[in-house]
Amino acid sequence: MSFVVAAAGSGGLMFAIMLVLSSLMQEWDTVLSKGQPSTLVPLLREASGNLSTTEWYANVSSVADSALHHHLSTPYMRSLVRDPYFIAFWMMCAGTTTLIIYYLGAQYIHNEYYVKRRADAAEWKCQPTKFLSDELALEEKLTGCWNAFVSGSAGTGLFFLHQNYPIFKFYYDVDERGWLHYLAGCFLVYLWVDFYSYWMHRLLHHKAIYKYVHKWHHRYKCPTAFGAFAIHPIEYIGFQTAGIWCSAIFPVHVMSFLTVVMFVAYHNQIDHSGVYFEGELPWVPTTKFHDDHHQYFHLNFGVTLVLWDWLFGTLRQSDRVYGEEVFEGEQDVKKTQ
Ligand SMILES: [Zn+2]
Ligand SMILES: [Zn+2]
Repeated sequence: MSFVVAAAGSGGLMFAIMLVLSSLMQEWDTVLSKGQPSTLVPLLREASGNLSTTEWYANVSSVADSALHHHLSTPYMRSLVRDPYFIAFWMMCAGTTTLIIYYLGAQYIHNEYYVKRRADAAEWKCQPTKFLSDELALEEKLTGCWNAFVSGSAGTGLFFLHQNYPIFKFYYDVDERGWLHYLAGCFLVYLWVDFYSYWMHRLLHHKAIYKYVHKWHHRYKCPTAFGAFAIHPIEYIGFQTAGIWCSAIFPVHVMSFLTVVMFVAYHNQIDHSGVYFEGELPWVPTTKFHDDHHQYFHLNFGVTLVLWDWLFGTLRQSDRVYGEEVFEGEQDVKKTQ
């Protein structure tokens, strides 16, 4: 339960940071361009007045919906989004924020389980007798944190690229297409990310290419929460860009996209924790599902759904022989003695 709170907390924190940063950018824009008072001041003034909770939420969500869109469309901001120093600054900020959230989440799990409850690992650990060596654990932590920094920076860089050369069909105002479209967007992005990740993951496990790329991630046979992003750079580019391409095909509200991406990133971290947890949503498998993938290798390729593994016959079966050298098509039924 404390993880649900931690997840909600980190999601909320990220949302609040985005909201405050974008509002501050708008204030900055106003001060420099001597334009009209913008979002932050009226928001604070109204929030501190006699607004009802519903009105306040409506105000906050409308600001969140439109802040980036509105202030990025002013002439001053149009010039800023072409400024390499401005872009580099925000890429560094976003990278650092992502790194901090990733590190704190993983470190929290480490302290609560691997430090405080190490003696009773049988009660919480998916593989109770197995732990990473100190050397592998350190490497996993450094690689995971570095990739977290890169993903925050690269995502922001991609956003600025899109501002200058629109490649995606993001929209920012829910009223433009209505709530049904917003929710359908969440659903479609979610299915897209999971389906894409399943096939990309399964391809990486192909006998001809496994040892060149994905084997790197599978050195962590009993991974920890730092392992979610501890993957090979080539694979990292493929997975991290999984979600974005659907928005080049159909219009997606920017918050639908961010909600799904943040949920999948959060789930990925919990999934690698090595700690047994139930799925966050009724259809999401327990952490044992991906932990088994690390223990037995070429099976259970899905991320938050077991659907694809079930449909395409790659779920773990207890009577089969599995191992790092036993690829798909070689997983014979165990011989009975
Ligand atoms: Zn794998
Ligand atoms: Zn993994």
